[in-house]
Amino acid sequence: MSVEASVNEKGAILLGKHVACDSYDEKRPLRVVTHVHYDHTKGLQQSLRSCQAVVMTPATRDLLEVMQSPLFLMMGNVKTLAYEEPFEFNNECLTLHRADHIIGAAQVLVEDDETGTRYVYTGDFRPSDTPILDADVLVIESTYGNPFQVRPFGRVVENAFIDLVETGLRHGSVYVFGYHGKLQELMQILHSNKVKAPFVAPEKVFQVSKVCEKHGMHLGKVLLSSEEEAKAILEHNEPCVAFYHMNSRRYVARNSFRISVSGWEFSCPRRQISDNEHVVALSDHADFNGLIRYVRESKPKLVITDNYRVGDATILAREITKRLGIEARAMPQKRLDVNLG
Ligand SMILES: [Zn+2]
Repeated sequence: MSVEASVNEKGAILLGKHVACDSYDEKRPLRVVTHVHYDHTKGLQQSLRSCQAVVMTPATRDLLEVMQSPLFLMMGNVKTLAYEEPFEFNNECLTLHRADHIIGAAQVLVEDDETGTRYVYTGDFRPSDTPILDADVLVIESTYGNPFQVRPFGRVVENAFIDLVETGLRHGSVYVFGYHGKLQELMQILHSNKVKAPFVAPEKVFQVSKVCEKHGMHLGKVLLSSEEEAKAILEHNEPCVAFYHMNSRRYVARNSFRISVSGWEFSCPRRQISDNEHVVALSDHADFNGLIRYVRESKPKLVITDNYRVGDATILAREITKRLGIEARAMPQKRLDVNLG
């Protein structure tokens, strides 16, 4: 079997002969965007200018429009594909498959029509609702690729989050910090658990929420933080849940009741980090055990671990070979900066 999969120096996952995922590759006519997180949309402008098609799910297209601008995507030929809808291109068949991560997220399968070889890239995923695809060559994310990175608490985390919010609401406004997609998941958790306080969000978070609702999520009523009603609630510290992007955590509501949501927590579902702030261990990535389980059930002949994005790709590759007896390598290989002088 000739191996036609790799990760290039810019972080593009190359599958088969034509497809580059999640970053730019000058030789590839097809670009896939698996989801809208910034480390998966690198070089998108170049891809829009030069690729024959830039492929994504309809939800990812709608999210990109609000996170960039509607004009941004008009630079190129965007092709939306529903999950499992085939796209034939020069003797290869490309399909997107669901990935439980943020709305619109996809795994990528490229099948070589002549040899039948299946190249799979998981993208970012969480195991609970992500189908495991059979692969000959599997490229897998490595965020929590270290055997110590396991979160045994499961659904308990959601309850810990709800309890914390309810505790905070007794004193007034609660500020929640997280990333796009995760924030909307938190809104949905509170809404479906009948937490009655109004939700408030700044412009971008608000717009992302509208896209999530369009694509089937149920978030309840969200007020724009610049509206008079929302401004009055926040000013008087009345009970509400305000959702802000993690990047604004340093300067928004520093003295209020705060909850940050992070996957980099392994010891317990929630942890107090200051007088007025907790961290909740809600992740949208597989932990180490989830990654190993995916590989075992996908039954590839070769695994490539993504060594471009944050994570422990080298350790994960070693553990895959040790535990499952499957050849695995981290790509791209990172050069050590050795000072020979
Ligand atoms: Zn992501």
